[in-house]
Amino acid sequence: MQERVFNFSAGPAVLPLEVLEEAQRDLLALPGVGISVLEISHRSKDFQAIIDAAEANLRKLMNIPDNYKVLFLQGGASLQFGMLPMNLLGNKSADYIVTGTWSKKAMSEAKTQGSVRCAWDGSAENFSKLPQPEEINLDPNAAYVYYTSNETIQGVQFPSEPETNGVPLICDASSEFMYKPLDISKYGCVYACAQKNCGPAGVTIVVMREDLVEASPDNLISVLSYKKMAEAQSMLNTPPCFAIYIFKLVTDWMLNVVGGMDKMYAINQKKAALLYDVIDASNGFYLGHAQKDCRSIMNVPFKMATADLDAEFIAGAKDAGLVSLKGHRSVGGFRASIYNAMPIEGVERLAQFMNDFMRKHQ
Ligand SMILES: *Cc1c(COP(=O)(O)O)cnc(C)c1O
Repeated sequence: MQERVFNFSAGPAVLPLEVLEEAQRDLLALPGVGISVLEISHRSKDFQAIIDAAEANLRKLMNIPDNYKVLFLQGGASLQFGMLPMNLLGNKSADYIVTGTWSKKAMSEAKTQGSVRCAWDGSAENFSKLPQPEEINLDPNAAYVYYTSNETIQGVQFPSEPETNGVPLICDASSEFMYKPLDISKYGCVYACAQKNCGPAGVTIVVMREDLVEASPDNLISVLSYKKMAEAQSMLNTPPCFAIYIFKLVTDWMLNVVGGMDKMYAINQKKAALLYDVIDASNGFYLGHAQKDCRSIMNVPFKMATADLDAEFIAGAKDAGLVSLKGHRSVGGFRASIYNAMPIEGVERLAQFMNDFMRKHQ
């Protein structure tokens, strides 16, 4: 087999080796079933056991209260940009906190569905900082307040959720979902596509309070209605079976190998500190994009004073077994995505490489 390198891709992204090995081992025949998970009917009791276990693992890990529904949907996080306002706006308007590329996109997509207000906009600083609580201009009558807890491209992450004074809070947690324990009861809805931090592309996990699920209007086609999808337990039509299966294996790994969300968080903090310590100690050789009080534990964008050495950095990193480090074009430089499944050894090797590269060029 080809040796695996350390993959810092922003998404689809690294998966735990144990998960890939288990999927490979059981790909031809699920134990006790005798057929592949790729061939199994979603109406079979064997698939029902898989989706039930996926939900049970998620509920246990994230301590999800009973009055919240868990949905496994398709269409990626991007479909939620439209599905949320479609279901929840009614004849009100919604507030959007715009902190980066993804929240900006979500707001612009929501405008196709109705009335939307911008409650804060960080574009003037190229999305390198987050609002102070008093800077967020909220409408007390809004249908909901929407924010992106971790901006994948700019690497800005909310240390805690904004206060909305009772207005339902909706969170796109795509690039941080399940990186630390979360008090779900503070949210109306938390959703995430799986392919960043907790699984493969193809499934989007929506955790939504029951009263909001019930609010879906009747004039939507069924697969776009939270209410109808919840009534059918995400199986109104064929769900993304394989992606849900892999999500189940990832959550098994979080429970049994990592040992729960507190441990996951401790490992993630340690990994991020390794990289930010190199950046902070580099005397400006490396520059982080985000301000220190909001820099992300999951995505670490950084650059050098000029782009002259960028190609050499990328090529050297590749030789060291470190790939997918090129930054997004809107930020430049590099981005190391160090999601849950990135082993600490990968981050240690990157930190070492960054230090070696700096010494060579200082
Ligand atoms: C990747 C990403 C999206 C888009 O996800 P798709 O599944 O490709 O639609 C949305 N929001 C955030 C924060 C992301 O990181």
